[in-house]
Amino acid sequence: MEIHENYSLKGLNTFGIDVKARRVVCLEGSTKEDPLRFRHDVDALLKGEYLKLSYLVIGEGSNIVFTKDYEGTIVKVGERGVRGDDDGRYSYLTVGARMLTDEVVRISVENRYYGMENLSAIPGEIGAAVVQNVGAYGVELKDLVETVEAVDLQSGRWCTLKAGDCAFGYRMSLFKQQAGRWLIWQVKLRFNKTYAPIVTYKALADELQRRGIGSASQQQVRDVITELRWSKLPRPEEHGSAGSFFKNPVVEEAVAQRLKEAYPDMPLYPGNKLSAGWLIDRAGWKGRTLGAAGVWPKQALVLYNTGSCTGAEVVALARAIQQDVEQKFGVRLEPEAIIV
Ligand SMILES: Cc1cc2nc3c(=O)[nH]c(=O)nc-3n(C[C@H](O)[C@H](O)[C@H](O)COP(=O)(O)OP(=O)(O)OC[C@H]3O[C@@H](n4cnc5c(N)ncnc54)[C@H](O)[C@@H]3O)c2cc1C
Repeated sequence: MEIHENYSLKGLNTFGIDVKARRVVCLEGSTKEDPLRFRHDVDALLKGEYLKLSYLVIGEGSNIVFTKDYEGTIVKVGERGVRGDDDGRYSYLTVGARMLTDEVVRISVENRYYGMENLSAIPGEIGAAVVQNVGAYGVELKDLVETVEAVDLQSGRWCTLKAGDCAFGYRMSLFKQQAGRWLIWQVKLRFNKTYAPIVTYKALADELQRRGIGSASQQQVRDVITELRWSKLPRPEEHGSAGSFFKNPVVEEAVAQRLKEAYPDMPLYPGNKLSAGWLIDRAGWKGRTLGAAGVWPKQALVLYNTGSCTGAEVVALARAIQQDVEQKFGVRLEPEAIIV
């Protein structure tokens, strides 16, 4: 394993926030020559001093806002292999946690394993995607998870969790609820063998119609979603961000109805889910900045780094937005991004 002391995290978070960690430990992935390499590194991690102070397992840092130097150990997981199999009913991919989510989607599309194409172009690693139960265009990762292989860092046990044991919810999972306890190292995903695209999500349906695509192939769904996403979101290499900063709030039926009467053009999704982006926009924040943190002009749900912003500036902007939205609509926005 590789160990860096007093290490800058600027390149390890997509917001590009310049803080340091007391220590960064990179666990090596297994190789053909050394299939137990990862296990040995985890053993060394558990036996060493590394987890005595605070610690945090991270992926690509695309959903984290660091607000200060991290006085503990940042752990990065090395496993990235991929293996396919089939039980006649479904196809499966077993992937190392370090694999990029979009890379897994690409492999699934190339092999005509169906069901993950709507998650195209989500930044970050598949291990973290499980933690967040990432979702986009009408699909959530939980719809594909068969099992999750994780190390319980508190007991040192290696566990296989079935999807039903992972407490998946909207951008939520057991691993997020019990933050700090689990190190995910491998995920088994289940894919359909027959193609039944999910293209009812409005922005996707509209775009397919605009392009005159009647029955979209899996590759077309992937391509259209990728283009749609990058037409609205800041590219990590150009502007730092963590994607959607807030969750879409789910409110009581009475609140949803009151707001719909007051604002007939307000989007309202099944389950009384509101659009956080619409609320922020209507509260007047789209395109505005506070310090060096800003609200992305094409998508109000995204806070971004206008240059060299600090985590404290991002949090100050988020608080100002929360206050205004709560005052105007009586709805509390909760961050989707993890603030450290
Ligand atoms: C431009 C942009 C667009 C985005 N679009 C979407 C979107 O459409 N839908 C969506 O859901 N998200 C979206 N996101 C958010 C983000 O991409 C996802 O949450 C992603 O899964 C985070 O992956 P990561 O590797 O960067 O994780 P990190 O940000 O590094 O970590 C996220 C969380 O997972 C934990 N973690 C990471 N790896 C492990 C592991 N191996 N074991 C245990 N815990 C771990 C961390 O401790 C942290 O709590 C977007 C982000 C950006 C920047």
